[in-house]
Amino acid sequence: MIDKDELLQRITPEIVIEIMDENGAPLNHTSRDGSTGQKLLWFKTICHGGSKPKLCYFTQSKNFFCYTSCGVMSFFECIKRIRNVRDSDFYKGVILYVAEKIGMKPTQEKGFGTYRKDDRDDMRTLEDGVSISGWNDYCEKLKKQNEEINNKIISDETILDYFENKVYEGWLKEGISEKSMKKYGIKWYEYQKHIIIPHRNKDGQLIGIRRRSLKPEDRNNKYMPEFIEGKDYGHSLGLNLYGLYENRAAIEDRGKAIIVEGEKSVLLSDTYFGKNSIAVATCGFSVSNKQANLLGDLGVRQVYLGFDKDFDEFNKDAVMKYNSNPSTKRDFEMYKNKINSIASKLAGMGFAVYIIKDKEGKLKLKDSPFDEGKETFQKLFANAEKFDQKKLKW
Ligand SMILES: [Zn+2]
Repeated sequence: MIDKDELLQRITPEIVIEIMDENGAPLNHTSRDGSTGQKLLWFKTICHGGSKPKLCYFTQSKNFFCYTSCGVMSFFECIKRIRNVRDSDFYKGVILYVAEKIGMKPTQEKGFGTYRKDDRDDMRTLEDGVSISGWNDYCEKLKKQNEEINNKIISDETILDYFENKVYEGWLKEGISEKSMKKYGIKWYEYQKHIIIPHRNKDGQLIGIRRRSLKPEDRNNKYMPEFIEGKDYGHSLGLNLYGLYENRAAIEDRGKAIIVEGEKSVLLSDTYFGKNSIAVATCGFSVSNKQANLLGDLGVRQVYLGFDKDFDEFNKDAVMKYNSNPSTKRDFEMYKNKINSIASKLAGMGFAVYIIKDKEGKLKLKDSPFDEGKETFQKLFANAEKFDQKKLKW
């Protein structure tokens, strides 16, 4: 057995950043704690499915604090929550997962662009009795266990019969066709007034159920995992791409994909382009290594970043206004840096990266590039800018 305390001692801020990134929360910003002087890392509150950067990691005391709702969490407890690990799977899903991150995986990872250094010596001190001759078996086992957790499959799909096949009018009005909603299995939960969004892995297996709530009290948590009779149907968003299964053939065929934030953009893309759609959603303003590898494994070499327009960066007046207030100025800078850092990471993994930018003001704030109709999208797509690492101004 791996000793939890010993494992915790080996956790570095870099490991925490990598783990959070992989699970859908790239580092948002850092700061320093006034009273203890320790460095703080801030992430999106994926502990409870929130979207504000209020989940804080204390680099010395090595615990998390969620300022929105969860409060203090031990390092391992937080990992357990963000990965939806059951109590009975704690050792497999949390301890072994973290152990692997600190270098227990000696061979090159299958996939695209990721590499881990050989770290057998660390391994020997961590787990007594693992000889080098048994090493490969051990790694295989570990890999399988991790895959099981990562790809938790809901094999009993009758759970979806729980919901009505009613089509949600509001989405029809926003331009999503009934055909697209049916294709993606969108349903309706009358009792809770939820739009039901099944999530499938690249092979089409059901792995999670998310809901879009229409209740005013949920306006800050519109998209959440669905709970049915006390069971949580959430999954690790950062380990999957919504729409990859449905659009896999077109993506493989063209070697290209458009990365968007939300499920709705994938549905709109399907409405516009049908079987030629190449859109996938990361379900957040981020792209994890795992998500990038899912595309790389399909032979994708060109990725288009179509994130939501959170700021009007090409409108002079708007930019002046952002910069006149220290807090909006900071948020605006963070937004631009974030897009650049995602692009830079993907470029570093070998992708040709194009960024879809709304230079002519065709989109409204908060819009995705798909939100203002097919023609607008096609213009934005045609004018996507190739990302050039050398031109980065940090
Ligand atoms: Zn929380």
